[in-house]
Amino acid sequence: MPSTRDLTAAPVEPGDATVSYRGDRFRRYLDADTIRTRVQEMGRQIGDQYAGQNPILVSVLNGAFMFTADLMRALDIDCEIDFIKLSSYGAAKVSSGEVHELKSIDADLEGREVIIVEDIVDTGLTMEFIKDRLREYSPASLRVATLLHKPEATEPDLTLDYVGFQIPDLFVIGYGLDYGQLARNLGDIYILDDSA
Ligand code: 5GP
Repeated sequence: MPSTRDLTAAPVEPGDATVSYRGDRFRRYLDADTIRTRVQEMGRQIGDQYAGQNPILVSVLNGAFMFTADLMRALDIDCEIDFIKLSSYGAAKVSSGEVHELKSIDADLEGREVIIVEDIVDTGLTMEFIKDRLREYSPASLRVATLLHKPEATEPDLTLDYVGFQIPDLFVIGYGLDYGQLARNLGDIYILDDSA
């Protein structure tokens, strides 16, 4: 079930650390402790709902690799993993609106409890694409866990079952999320500083 609590991210104070990539400045928005605490909570919630089952996490490469690793470690139930890879933004900061599958999953999802694990849902086009694609395998159930969600940008009809943080409609990097393949290694999440 989707959580009904307020998930709006509480950013750290402005003026805190900033980083620059490719001439754009980003300010720290969610620190590693805040992310860790929330991912642990998500793990407990998912673990409770899937108690006694063996869900398979389908992690969306590349951005979700870090979140997936931490979420999986926060699950105290049997669970499995597979990966899907789709075309990304490249070096752009806005969605091209086109999604292509670059790597399909290997596992047999028929009759399985499937949880798609995504780093961020922006317009929701990518998630719609993945859900449609995975439904073709006839899973017993299909849910979505995303660390970040930009509600202002997303198609209203898209159901997201587990959301870590709701964030403004601004480009973010770090904790697996890239800017032209850079910045994935940052432990904190940074948001584009649009005041610059
Ligand atoms: P959507 O199809 O929902 O518009 O975009 C989903 C994909 O775009 C995500 O999986 C992610 O790879 C990328 N994306 C969307 N917003 C951001 C963002 O703010 N930062 C980064 N680094 N990637 C994003």
